[in-house]
Amino acid sequence: MPLDDLYQELILDHYRAPRHKGPCPGCGREVKQDNPLCGDVITLRLEVQDKTIARIAHEGQGCSISQASASMMAEAVLGQPVAQALELGQSVRALMRGESPSAEQEQALGDLMALQGVASFPVRVKCALLPWTALQEALAGAAPQPPVQEESPRGDKGA
Ligand code: ZN
Repeated sequence: MPLDDLYQELILDHYRAPRHKGPCPGCGREVKQDNPLCGDVITLRLEVQDKTIARIAHEGQGCSISQASASMMAEAVLGQPVAQALELGQSVRALMRGESPSAEQEQALGDLMALQGVASFPVRVKCALLPWTALQEALAGAAPQPPVQEESPRGDKGA
């Protein structure tokens, strides 16, 4: 099976059976992000203990890319140190800019490499990055160093 097909399957699998989707009892951090261009909405909840992501869950709706990305992200960062999770987010952003990951980054990305093809579709890049933007925001203050600020303005007007 060609790699592209494998990646396509992986994305569809996460879309159909999202991991860590639902409420997150005891989670202290909550961030809502939306992508009006596509209609994607995500609420990300997580709990940090000892600078590690101890619990994480996402809820929302949207296209297969946004939902699969949220599912893969939750799976990838659960149990990870905050700093490492943020680093992974930077690797995903680089991937979406069309940059080729180093061997080390590629190993850390794992299944997230399935998102690589999205870089060819600029409209979908925001879908893929939506959960990662939420993660960055949810982890703000929990990291040893403040994360890089998003350049795009956020569309939410309060809860
Ligand atoms: Zn989308």
